[in-house]
Amino acid sequence: MSEQQQFDVVVIGGGPAGYHAAIRAAQLGLKTACIDAALGKDGQPALGGTCLRVGCVPSKALLDSTRQFWNMGHIFDQHGISFSDAKMDVATMIGRKDKIVKQFTGGIASLFKANKITAFYGFGQLQPGNVVKIKQHDGTDVEVKGTNVILAVGSESIELPFAKFDGKYIVDNEGALDFPEVPKRLGVIGAGVIGLELGSVWNRLGSQVTILEAMPDFLGAADKEVAKVSAREFKKQGLDIKLGAKLGKAEVKDNEVVLTYNDGNADQTLFVDRLLVAVGRRAATKDVLAEGTGVKLNERGQIEVDAHCHTGADGVWAVGDCVRGPMLAHKGFEEGIAVAELIAGLPGHVNFDTIPWVIYTEPEIAWVGKTEEQLKAEGIAYKSGSFPFAAVARAVAMAEPIGFVKVLADAETDRILGMHLVGPNVSELVHEGVISMEFKGSADDLARICHAHPSLSEAVHDAAMAVDKRAIHKAN
Ligand code: NAD
Repeated sequence: MSEQQQFDVVVIGGGPAGYHAAIRAAQLGLKTACIDAALGKDGQPALGGTCLRVGCVPSKALLDSTRQFWNMGHIFDQHGISFSDAKMDVATMIGRKDKIVKQFTGGIASLFKANKITAFYGFGQLQPGNVVKIKQHDGTDVEVKGTNVILAVGSESIELPFAKFDGKYIVDNEGALDFPEVPKRLGVIGAGVIGLELGSVWNRLGSQVTILEAMPDFLGAADKEVAKVSAREFKKQGLDIKLGAKLGKAEVKDNEVVLTYNDGNADQTLFVDRLLVAVGRRAATKDVLAEGTGVKLNERGQIEVDAHCHTGADGVWAVGDCVRGPMLAHKGFEEGIAVAELIAGLPGHVNFDTIPWVIYTEPEIAWVGKTEEQLKAEGIAYKSGSFPFAAVARAVAMAEPIGFVKVLADAETDRILGMHLVGPNVSELVHEGVISMEFKGSADDLARICHAHPSLSEAVHDAAMAVDKRAIHKAN
């Protein structure tokens, strides 16, 4: 064991929350180290966490490739474009995705160098006294000590005991990003974010996709009308989503996966070539804490923290997927930055009320703030204004006139309480709601802001005007 190295800040985990914390701490003049255990597909250390390696970034690469392919067969003819024999070369598509991942994981390593952050590649375990023991990939052990330690160890896929991952037939998101060919039949357990996004990827390439969802409602966390429009569109695209399905078991027999489930009426059997299990993720806190650190885990294995991400143990903080709150990379970004700023004596803060949600399907789904159901449950009187993309010239010109924008505002003060969107590019448009809410804006403020014409953002503008029944491009 070499001599213990001392840092102002030691971050365990180089994913979205961890690398943001490390870079911000270094920017603020703190001597910073970051430890990460992950390896890329090439067996080399790869910073960036689940998001960059096997989550947000690679899935978006595949979603974009397959969207182009799908549009060729479903939208191009409206523009007068015809072609014969369009083909998707899966190996090229996967290769492009891998190149993007390498570019971005390598980008974090370069940012670490530029910010003079010391990177350690291996598994870090917190000991009492803010010491971190690292088992490095080269077989050596090293110890570092931080005046502050930030735990940013992320999350891992939940495995179902009756459908265990085998890396080939029964896979998690990582496996479903790397199928060597389009599975003829793909089963998906869970109609959540991963199930819908990766189910869409393979469906667009011709896979017959069946999604089994345990809950009776589709996309329970989303606005009900958004869920209804998206369910209708997914059905048109050929995604077979079975709600209220109680899984029995999944077994691999003769190169196929045999699934048994109950659809609420009767036992059913489904035969598929590959099965993606996407039933959520859990905090990856196993073996991260040695005895006596004073850091507590809750019953879900998450690290207990207060509103400022402090664990209660002196100088130990935790951020991202391993603590409470939504498992979203950008929520981790903000927590990482806030903690680095708090350590440096600045007023770091995360506003959990304005974290946007995006599902990158077609149509895209996005929201920020409360749903109508939540407002009703909380007894908050509200006004609602919505506007369809079918009445937005830009959306029609793009041949994507699907979905709507809905603005919810306080009945008395007019302050925006939520924005719910389904349609083209709503992953970008939702930020009008985020910014308005962050600045405590009203629907009237948004309605009086000039929006470019023609642009998709006009749906937001007219929806804000519709709150006060004065939308210009529809009857109120
Ligand atoms: P999720 O929580 O979004 O969805 C899991 C779904 O599986 C739920 O609908 C749940 O009811 C269902 N389910 C659970 N157990 C089941 C069972 N036994 N049988 C059938 N259905 C069952 O989780 P996910 O899709 O696995 O994603 C994991 C995390 O990653 C989420 O927190 C998500 O927010 C995050 N993520 C975000 C994005 C994005 O922001 N676009 C993309 C991918 C993942």
